[in-house]
Amino acid sequence: MRAEIIAAGAELTSGQRVDTNSAWLATALSEIGIACAFHTTISDEMTDNVAALASACQRVDLILMTGGLGPTQDDITRDALAALSGSKLVLDQPSLVAICQLFAKRRNIETDPEIVVAALQEKFPDLVARNRIQAMFPAHAEVLTNRVGSAPGIWMKLGRAIVACLPGVPSEMKIMYSEQVLPRLEAMGLGQQVTHIRKINMFGRGESEIEADALDLTARGRIPEVGITAHDATISFRIFASGQTPEMADQIAKPTVDTIYDRFANLIVGENEEDVEHALFAELLCQNKTFACAESCTGGTIAHKLTRLAGVSQVFMGGVVSYANSAKQNLLGVPQELLERHGAVSSEVAAAMAAGARLRFGADIAISTTGVAGPGGGSAEKPVGLIWLGLATAEGVKTKSLQMGQEQPRTMIQERGAKQAMNWVRLHLKGIDPA
Ligand code: ATP
Repeated sequence: MRAEIIAAGAELTSGQRVDTNSAWLATALSEIGIACAFHTTISDEMTDNVAALASACQRVDLILMTGGLGPTQDDITRDALAALSGSKLVLDQPSLVAICQLFAKRRNIETDPEIVVAALQEKFPDLVARNRIQAMFPAHAEVLTNRVGSAPGIWMKLGRAIVACLPGVPSEMKIMYSEQVLPRLEAMGLGQQVTHIRKINMFGRGESEIEADALDLTARGRIPEVGITAHDATISFRIFASGQTPEMADQIAKPTVDTIYDRFANLIVGENEEDVEHALFAELLCQNKTFACAESCTGGTIAHKLTRLAGVSQVFMGGVVSYANSAKQNLLGVPQELLERHGAVSSEVAAAMAAGARLRFGADIAISTTGVAGPGGGSAEKPVGLIWLGLATAEGVKTKSLQMGQEQPRTMIQERGAKQAMNWVRLHLKGIDPA
């Protein structure tokens, strides 16, 4: 079975709102083994809605559509369905009662469900007239009740496909999918597969380099399928394994997961949302070592990332953002003479910053960052993107430079510089420091 997701709304096509519904629905479908072949985004034009539904019902078996079910003039999903299926819109009295009950509740009106429509019509005739459209459905459609909002959804056959229309409001859409659509898919004998996605994150090599060593894993048509993506220099393998039970899906994924762990061992920093900071935290805990940082160009990014992790106070002593030269001198004891002779962005100053942080925080290991985050301030000798790192331990201090690329935006230089610095500490602790 192949599915298509259609997201309707001018705020989506104009870029004012990001379409989060489609990503959520595609993930939900993949969890039950239904592949989503197309995502379509359309504005509130009737002809576009009809055209999108017409092409979807020719190329897929299941269409999930969100948005355009409300009472306003730009909500045209039900009209597009009626036009395409050649049906009339007919009133569903229970839906009208449910909508009126919701409005009565919101206005603290106590009334019998039997007479709620009449009671509301008497007090708020315009309100009922405006919202009546939400209780209209193409003939032969099934109503998907909306437990939390006013617009019911629609379930109907359209050509060879089944179409389920859900509200645009993400919270309402998710509840309606889980409570109304998923059980119907299961009743059709679908969703009897479970797809588990295992995401393994790596740091320290480029995406193409990693893929070059994983061509056997990422080959098209392989089971389980393995995809590779990159985000802020963290490279992830996603393993998609399907089975009749979660345990079977895990069994299918296991040999591939084991291969990845064997082959990329030192690059792996965690799974799912885990990144370099999680791996550093785990390594510090495992070795019972404490850590501190002195940040200039990364502006506290290292400290921020680490302090987002619960329990990190066991290993993280603290950090300083020593941005001005005076802060490097006063807070870390960097000699003025070093700053004058070598400049703030130098191996010597990075070393003194790391040593100062280690001493002042009483930590086992400390890292420092000092660099040119740009976009201005670069020179031929010290271009934008140059970062010096210092790493201080009881054995001494060492430094290394990174060149992040002159064209990179400032925030990316800071983000990646911070990750490189933490990764250096992690590798040093593991005894596999490549520098
Ligand atoms: P309602 O009657 O509750 O308004 P609706 O079906 O008419 O439901 P829309 O009016 O299209 O839905 O959208 C309602 C809200 O949900 C808007 O704030 C809209 O920006 C948001 N929304 C709609 N579609 C999406 C989407 N695909 N992703 C994220 N948000 C969305």
